[in-house]
Amino acid sequence: MPRRVVDILRGPIAGRINYSFPDVAAHDVFWPLTGVHRVTPAAFHDVARAIESGIIHVEHARDIGAGFDAQYNSSGRTRRDGTVVRAKTIEIGGTSGRVQMGAILHECVHAYFDLVHYRMSILTNEAAAYVTSALAYRMTGVPWPRINDPDRAGENVADRLMHQYATGVGVPMVSREPWVGLLQAIQASPDYASELSGH
Ligand SMILES: [Zn+2]
Repeated sequence: MPRRVVDILRGPIAGRINYSFPDVAAHDVFWPLTGVHRVTPAAFHDVARAIESGIIHVEHARDIGAGFDAQYNSSGRTRRDGTVVRAKTIEIGGTSGRVQMGAILHECVHAYFDLVHYRMSILTNEAAAYVTSALAYRMTGVPWPRINDPDRAGENVADRLMHQYATGVGVPMVSREPWVGLLQAIQASPDYASELSGH
């Protein structure tokens, strides 16, 4: 399982995912001049090295709820059966193939921000992960499961980025309108209600 994740992180799709985005607080006034972050192929290479050196772990998920193909745990947690998931573990669920690739890259974005102690809001962190999985689905052409509103909103951001790639922009900035739509979709999603309220 770690091998598959490392292969994805060094593969051709991860090698094309490249964009910048503002932190959530910046989207109203200074767009897009302040708080700019990036997801780049180099970030995915950093995560691959961290997996190989045992800093980030990869495990099969055994108790992840419906609707999640994977998840990243920055802190350790205890499963219902009493066993422990270590801190900095990517848990991979039951999907496979290109759909699983998108889910894995989503979690690897969270792993990267954790690895480099990136300072940003939880909401921004989540939005960047959704944009990454949507880009992966677009690039592989997989008919992917748009399970929830953030999936669909992430797709809108990815579509605009794909258009910018096609016109030769190196590291495009996410477009404001779909990005704000994605932030709102995540905020409205029951999946993230407890996380975003800090519980
Ligand atoms: Zn996520």
